[in-house]
Amino acid sequence: MLQSARTKIVATVGPACGSVDQLSNLIRLGVDVFRLNMAHGDRARHQAMFDAIATARDLTAIDIAVLVDLAGPKIRLGDLFAGDLDLAAGDRVDFVIGTVATSSHELTCTYEPLVNELEVGQHVLLSDGLIRLQVECKTSDRAACRVIDGGVLRGRQGVNVPGAHFSAPALDVVDLDNARWAVGQGVEYLSLSFVRRPEEILQLKELVRAAGGHSQVIAKIEKREALDCLDEIVKATDGVMVARGDLGVEIEVQQTPIQQKRIVAACRKYGKPVIVATQMLESMHTNRRPTRAEVSDVANAILDGADACMLSGETAIGHYPSDAVTMMNRIMLETERAYPDREDSRFQTPEPTTNITRAMVQGAGRIARQLSAQAVVIVADSIAAARYKSQVRDFIPTIALSGHRHVVRGLALYWGILPYYADPEEINGLPKIKAFIAERAKTHWQLQDGDRVLLVIDSPDNIGEHDWMTVLTVGRD
Ligand code: PGA
Ligand code: MN
Repeated sequence: MLQSARTKIVATVGPACGSVDQLSNLIRLGVDVFRLNMAHGDRARHQAMFDAIATARDLTAIDIAVLVDLAGPKIRLGDLFAGDLDLAAGDRVDFVIGTVATSSHELTCTYEPLVNELEVGQHVLLSDGLIRLQVECKTSDRAACRVIDGGVLRGRQGVNVPGAHFSAPALDVVDLDNARWAVGQGVEYLSLSFVRRPEEILQLKELVRAAGGHSQVIAKIEKREALDCLDEIVKATDGVMVARGDLGVEIEVQQTPIQQKRIVAACRKYGKPVIVATQMLESMHTNRRPTRAEVSDVANAILDGADACMLSGETAIGHYPSDAVTMMNRIMLETERAYPDREDSRFQTPEPTTNITRAMVQGAGRIARQLSAQAVVIVADSIAAARYKSQVRDFIPTIALSGHRHVVRGLALYWGILPYYADPEEINGLPKIKAFIAERAKTHWQLQDGDRVLLVIDSPDNIGEHDWMTVLTVGRD
């Protein structure tokens, strides 16, 4: 357990990995969080996938987390008039109002006001940016477009209009319904696509609170508008995803590497977990081995300071889901070995704080290093204490011990944190906590007699008013 990668793996669930056996296998290979993408499938499918994950979690007895990804104001094409459409530069196609195309050169979409809100001169990107149209003129019921870059168009594909400010709500009725379902299932993370403003994140947080759930909210950064108020969004949210798929179409693709670094840096600054997503091991859809560029991409995301890397189609629909997870884990372990000095001063947060928990857990890492201790164990009733520890990338393995499942699973995304569940009775009071650690140290955590462990207790009910810290020696205390 203490030898596992510090960086976390998010894997998207789909037909290629959806059975309980396959999911269990991916958990054992190192997946920390499974993503359910609400942009595909219906409630019955989502429920079946969630139930399969829950079964795999029970079978493996590893507390992985679930991330439900809300589609948000994503625009998709409707069905095409006569199947796939081969477009050449110079051709004309029209976006029309309504949901039914009446000729092969008419396009409909899921966003009703699109024709109204498109402006002459704007570019419309389809097929992941491969196909580019430009709006030439508008009438009340259609926006006539000229094809700039051609290609084969398929129905239901995403529609991106870079730079446009659409009036679509952040959460439509389907998103709200999916969000309530997800909170009801007890999912650990809820992500929102195409976030534009911090208020949208606050709205989703309020929904979670009103529903009495514990889900943490993740803002997917994939629009120019979000980049323009990045700090405000990062401050408002519990976590962030660098959603490079749509981001690379909404802004110029050559701008994405620098924006990725900027987003990750903002998350480090405000101490929020960040997932780097999309095409990380893209070629592993059909190959057992990644390209050199993909391996470097994962390594560089880790070196930038990402908490997690995500697999999308690689695990959802690819030929080699388990190879992709194994490869990602290997890149993480190898890259972390050479992490700058194994404690990167960019990520230290030693500034003054009035927060006692934060000072204690971050100090525990420093003491552990000074004593050459093997681990920090944090006993906590909430995710806050381990989250503070995760913000300091000090490489001292940190076990977050809790009697609350939602705390254990809610920490799955946090860099360097190894969440561990204990029956609340087994860690009730200091003597029991010590006995629990003594029992697990060698059998479960690969510690040896004489190893030192920094113990921080942040559930002070029967210890005292504030956090409490001590040093234990395995085999003696
Ligand atoms: P998606 O989000 O896979 O749901 O589109 C991720 C991305 O856009 O990169
Ligand atoms: Mn996206």
